[in-house]
Amino acid sequence: MKEGTASDIRRSSYIDWGLLMELLYRHADGRSAFFSNRSDGNARNSEVAEKLIVAAGGRYQSRALLRQTHSSIIRDSAELSQDGEIGKGQLREPLEGDAIFVDEPRSVPIILVADCAPVVIFDSSSLCYVAIHAGWRGIYGGIIQGAIDRLRAAGSGELIGVVGPHAGICCYEFSSGDADIFSQKVGTNASVPLEGGAVALDIYGSISHLFQKSGVLLQSTRPPCTICDERYFSYRGGDLASRMALFVVGSDS
Ligand SMILES: [Zn+2]
Repeated sequence: MKEGTASDIRRSSYIDWGLLMELLYRHADGRSAFFSNRSDGNARNSEVAEKLIVAAGGRYQSRALLRQTHSSIIRDSAELSQDGEIGKGQLREPLEGDAIFVDEPRSVPIILVADCAPVVIFDSSSLCYVAIHAGWRGIYGGIIQGAIDRLRAAGSGELIGVVGPHAGICCYEFSSGDADIFSQKVGTNASVPLEGGAVALDIYGSISHLFQKSGVLLQSTRPPCTICDERYFSYRGGDLASRMALFVVGSDS
């Protein structure tokens, strides 16, 4: 019988659990970014989030959660981490913020999204990374650049960026005036024509541009659109309550 690789074993473990979450990226040292989908359940529910993390191979020693407000605030996992056993629920009220800087492998950051972009930037030569909730407000406010600066200050390795499913250029209708203001701020044309004269905002193109400008190596291709792809929850699609989870299990978490 052929032996599976570590990643095969990890994958079979969450498929055995009946979960369809995606492995967005796995670094050579084992750090792995996962993104759940609709069939995995509403990740706002802490029991769902716990199950996802454990099934992904995380030991769930410590989780870092935010009260997300579309800000550009980046928190350190140390100030957010909640040590707790599985099934014990949340231990304290999360702090406001929209990105989590992680520099210790025991911590599992959880970012909740439905149409905003789930983004992770890894420092390739240290254990540091930042997990980001990136909607237009956060990108406009500088959260991507802030995350890059935080990582550059902490380590010296090449930065690797990963962008998961979010509202795509097929559906993400935006006021054309606001799209122009956004484009000017980000430094690239983020306005894409839709049928009938409307425009869509190109979140992926904007993040790609910011990565390229700062020398971040983009690992992902343009991901599926959460508004029209039924595998995902969509806030714009009318489901205001449900979220997918972006989380990273470390080489030792
Ligand atoms: Zn779409």
